Amino acid sequence: THRFSVVQTAPPDSILGLTEAFNADPNPDKMNLSVGVYKDESGKTPVLKSVKEAEKRLIDSETSKGYLSIDGMVEYREDVRRMVFGDAIAGERVAVLQAPGGTGALRVAADFMRTQLPDLRIWIPTPTWANHPAIFSAAELPTSTYRYLGADRTSLDLPGMLEDLRENAATGDAVLLHGCCHNPTGIDPSEDDWKQIAKVIADKQLLPLIDFAYQGFGDGLEQDAVGLRTVLEQVDEAIVCTSFSKNFGLYSERVGAISLVAADAGECEAARSQLKRIVRTNYSNPPRHGGAIVATILADESLTALWKEELEAMRTRITALRESFVQTMESTGKGYDFSFLLRQKGMFSFSGLTPMQVDELKSRHSIYIVGSGRINVAGMSESRMQTLCDAVASVMS
Ligand code: PLP
Repeated sequence: THRFSVVQTAPPDSILGLTEAFNADPNPDKMNLSVGVYKDESGKTPVLKSVKEAEKRLIDSETSKGYLSIDGMVEYREDVRRMVFGDAIAGERVAVLQAPGGTGALRVAADFMRTQLPDLRIWIPTPTWANHPAIFSAAELPTSTYRYLGADRTSLDLPGMLEDLRENAATGDAVLLHGCCHNPTGIDPSEDDWKQIAKVIADKQLLPLIDFAYQGFGDGLEQDAVGLRTVLEQVDEAIVCTSFSKNFGLYSERVGAISLVAADAGECEAARSQLKRIVRTNYSNPPRHGGAIVATILADESLTALWKEELEAMRTRITALRESFVQTMESTGKGYDFSFLLRQKGMFSFSGLTPMQVDELKSRHSIYIVGSGRINVAGMSESRMQTLCDAVASVMS
């Protein structure tokens, strides 16, 4: 008998499954608004010029492929700390570890919470990125959900969120927050909302776990950190998971970080030592190349300026596409009001399209959208906006 004969096939990843169907679709006018990567006007996910230049320099200057330390490169860690926290927190209270992507950081965070903080439960928003509950489940960290998306499916249910955290969470539980550009809804708290959220977190002594995968894709690098820094004004402990997949376009290089903020330097060092132990038994130490690219860019003024320009171009392209989609839908004259898309941030939005409409878009128009109606705005293009909007209008009428 084969021992693997007992292994059951795992369910496929629904979004990646859509991409397979998209790739197999022979229609030359097909559009993919499902996957979570940035695309330019030609539908490509480009390597940034700043990244290419940094890579050239690295190839010339690299002298060794020896291991990095368990927590990664010193300069890189300092870059992350500055980008995430600015001057908000004394450096001695922050332990930053370079991690393989935001996902790697989240898994280290989950293992840390599960092993070091007994009886901790983490509260996650409904909806959230599908990998959040999956990662926490893999780490055996108990989860509960708090309300996030309003009944209109286009705005934040702040009262519901605050009530769940205040009334249902236990004192000392953890709460997962999206730092900006909430995936999948695109709905972020306003600055005033963040103040109210921060107050409940402080009152209930909740541990914020902030997933920061889109810094710079919402309102800009500094502006996108306002929510996180508002929370940190109220509490002295937090964990932040950074990803540079989107804002440096470094998806496959696996570049991220986990930053733990402790109340004092001593507790910070103890926590760092445990985080390192988790890394050691998991992937041992982080990959060098992607982190070295980021560190090279941020160590050089002109490369930093170029990267910021490129990031800004990605951000403004997404905003322009949102505007263009709203206007084109309006111009169909059928009363379609998508103006809520203008209040949402980042690559994703909940379009409000039903599963049936999503199905029809796929079968009749070769337009691929996730069943929940989440669209990747960056997958749109100006040149094909009319085609897209005609198709959307036809399935809505
Ligand atoms: N968190 C959220 C909300 C995301 O959308 C993503 C990527 O899609 C990640 C984390 C992790 O990104 P990565 O592991 O590719 O850096």
